[in-house]
Amino acid sequence: MEWMKTLKEVDPEIYEAIQNELDRQRNGLEMIPSENFTSPAVLQAMGSILTNKYSEGYPGKRYYGGNQFIDVIEELAIERAKRLFGVPHANVQPYSGSPANFAVYFAICKPGDVIMGQELTHGGHLTHGWKSSITGQYFKAVQYHVKPDGYLDLDEVRQLALQYKPKLIWVGSTAYTREFPFEEFSKIADEVGAYLAADIAHVAGLVIAGVHKNPAPYVHVITTTTHKTLRGPRGAIIMVTQKGLDKDPELADKIDRAIFPGLQGGPHDHTTAGIAVALNEASKPEFKEYGKQIVKNAKALAEELINNGLKLVSGGTDNHMILIDLTSFGKGHGIFVQEALDVAGITVNKNTIPNDPSSPFYPSGVRLGTPALTTRGMKEGEMKIIGKLIAQVIYAVKDYRLPEDKDERVEYLKKFREEIKNNEMIKIVRQQVSELCNKFLLYPNL
Ligand SMILES: *Cc1c(COP(=O)(O)O)cnc(C)c1O
Repeated sequence: MEWMKTLKEVDPEIYEAIQNELDRQRNGLEMIPSENFTSPAVLQAMGSILTNKYSEGYPGKRYYGGNQFIDVIEELAIERAKRLFGVPHANVQPYSGSPANFAVYFAICKPGDVIMGQELTHGGHLTHGWKSSITGQYFKAVQYHVKPDGYLDLDEVRQLALQYKPKLIWVGSTAYTREFPFEEFSKIADEVGAYLAADIAHVAGLVIAGVHKNPAPYVHVITTTTHKTLRGPRGAIIMVTQKGLDKDPELADKIDRAIFPGLQGGPHDHTTAGIAVALNEASKPEFKEYGKQIVKNAKALAEELINNGLKLVSGGTDNHMILIDLTSFGKGHGIFVQEALDVAGITVNKNTIPNDPSSPFYPSGVRLGTPALTTRGMKEGEMKIIGKLIAQVIYAVKDYRLPEDKDERVEYLKKFREEIKNNEMIKIVRQQVSELCNKFLLYPNL
């Protein structure tokens, strides 16, 4: 029967692409700070028959029959989230981090309300009011920044809050290498009567491990993705804190109604199961060790990059992430470094740095992190080696300059791509990357 066949038999093209991606993940150093490797148990839950089910509504209150086992799964996920973060309410149905944030707006704000978030080019997320996001167009978005030293400008945050009286303030972002000052934000939000939402998408796993402050005592709402440092499937959780319920006893209901029926239809039950499994893994002592090691690794890597003459935004890191400031090599230099590192088997992403002299598509920095390498079992010793390899690649492409003229740029980048394929230094680094990867097996049973 056709439906009994394996993926390889039914669709060899897709099968082959997946195998190639598995090889890519195994044979390179994955250093995009928002990525991680889920456990085989999470993969098993994600690939299960749960994807077949429709379960609009919430446990005990579904619009479809046959949900007795789905209810068990979703309740386990909810209970585990509440326990791990110390909150009275959790919704585990958001399809991903962005829809989770949209639901917070839908629950708390009306179109046209004033909201505040960290500006994208200063490390903030699109959904915190950036102009090309729906959140920057349906709301009056006020954006705050970091100071020249790379730390959040709390004086500016307070001054903007007093001036614009936002309904909702976001704390937490995408490219910030220091601890988020939740307590300081809560004083400002309370002073102006705003709702305060912490978006801990990047640091959720560090919060659980106790190496980043938990926002629960300070904010009204917490959102997080589940696939970054939390190491689960792609998905998200919205939590309402006791402080949130004290401000508005209906806040939990409003959040639930904002997700369904406000914004989404049926929950992705296979993802809910994957989230439950990841939360169970995160409750174990080994996960605390993992979270601590992520930060130790990031600090060791940062130190090695600095020792090799590179400049980091804010001068270092408190968390899992590092932002290299490449402006001394020229405006918009991030693309050269990202692509050269790619050829060397090291995956990072080009990223704006605060007050970037270039543009978000051709930014002047790269962002890298340690969550995925730490999952593979690498420690400070490997970080020292990797820091040197990264510096070697950066210096190998130091003389390239992004042309101002758009047409010239296309030709220049074409030539650059040809040249880095044959660059001897990059070839040597690629070889060393492969040797390192072979010592830290990834998914040996897949
Ligand atoms: C990654 C991220 C999100 C969005 O997550 P998606 O799942 O990509 O939609 C939201 N907020 C922050 C701070 C993030 O880092």
